[in-house]
Amino acid sequence: MLPETTNLIGLDRQAMETFFLSLGEKSFRASQVMKWIHQVGVNDFSEMTNLSKTLRETLSDQCEITPPEIISDDLSVDGTRKWLLRVPGKSAIEMVFIPEDTRGTLCVSSQVGCTLNCSFCATGKQGYNRDLTTAEIIGQVWLAKHMLAEQYQTDQRIVSNVVMMGMGEPLMNFDNVVSAMKIMQDDFCFGLSKRRITLSTAGVVPKIDALKEACPVSLAVSLHAPNDELRNQLVPLNKKYPIKKLLDACNRYVADSARARITFEYVMLNGVNDELQHAEQLSELMKTVPAKVNLIPFNSFEGIDYTRSSNSRINRFRDVLHDNGVIVTVRRTRGDDIDAACGQLAGDVMDLTRRSEKFRQKQLEKIQ
Ligand code: SAH
Repeated sequence: MLPETTNLIGLDRQAMETFFLSLGEKSFRASQVMKWIHQVGVNDFSEMTNLSKTLRETLSDQCEITPPEIISDDLSVDGTRKWLLRVPGKSAIEMVFIPEDTRGTLCVSSQVGCTLNCSFCATGKQGYNRDLTTAEIIGQVWLAKHMLAEQYQTDQRIVSNVVMMGMGEPLMNFDNVVSAMKIMQDDFCFGLSKRRITLSTAGVVPKIDALKEACPVSLAVSLHAPNDELRNQLVPLNKKYPIKKLLDACNRYVADSARARITFEYVMLNGVNDELQHAEQLSELMKTVPAKVNLIPFNSFEGIDYTRSSNSRINRFRDVLHDNGVIVTVRRTRGDDIDAACGQLAGDVMDLTRRSEKFRQKQLEKIQ
């Protein structure tokens, strides 16, 4: 068997410095190599001209710079671009780029599938295979940056924002996600400020506290229901970390920043969580934490029974929140013609749970 090589694309500054020290090199080599990999986009050590020939040869022998492999690349009529990426373990993940007038947002996956099984999410229905490595997470940003530079023919920063809102629950893959977000922020790599990185979580309370210590980026929380009874059905994780505990954690997260707000995501499911009484209840909750609410029109996928709230119901819900003094926006649906919208990312998960099988079984029963 060949000896294992180290994939340098996935090393954050600390890990990279440790690596070079272990080779008997100075720690500043970390900055040099990170710049080549992430800023310049080089994946061949022979191009790293400010390293000695011997060091380049050592790196070629012992290391690699390998992002996930692209399986397919789709462009939506609205400019949204979705890539399907192969990852070891007979699986594939998805990432999405959403161009807007003033920014370009990359939506990044953190796991192959997801363990949480929210009742309205396509990823949940695929089951779970494994966590992505840091290399596979940051490798998405690396790939997007270089492919978009080709598409748009510019060296300007095209990916201005990253949202950890692709497949998976980022806080269930804490260490790798934090390392990847550190590389996103590193000035020698992608140089994104912490405000331009948003992590979305279904509410893994202890990890929200840990995130504040390790890497305090912008936080979005998938609330989706204004009371525990309903949230237990939509987001089963709520049984473990109910709303009160979740909102307490949110308050701790923004405690020492006067201006910071938590974004609360709320998927609009027709007749399920979109009644006036829900809007009133949600308004009350939102008075207890610095918040803004982002209403997400439900995106459908094969085999799911929920339907999207009509525009008039969404607007009615928004107006109640607004009249109660809550900051509220409605998320524009992007890329749904190529199944790239929120909750539609399914990739190709070699499921190790029995969840995808059960979901398919239920669909079959419905047809028969
Ligand atoms: N696990 C993370 C990231 C999930 S994806 C989390 O739960 O926050 C980002 C957002 O899309 C979440 O708010 C998620 O609940 C929402 N979402 C999932 N399925 C959806 C669907 N079918 N339609 C619209 N939004 C959906």
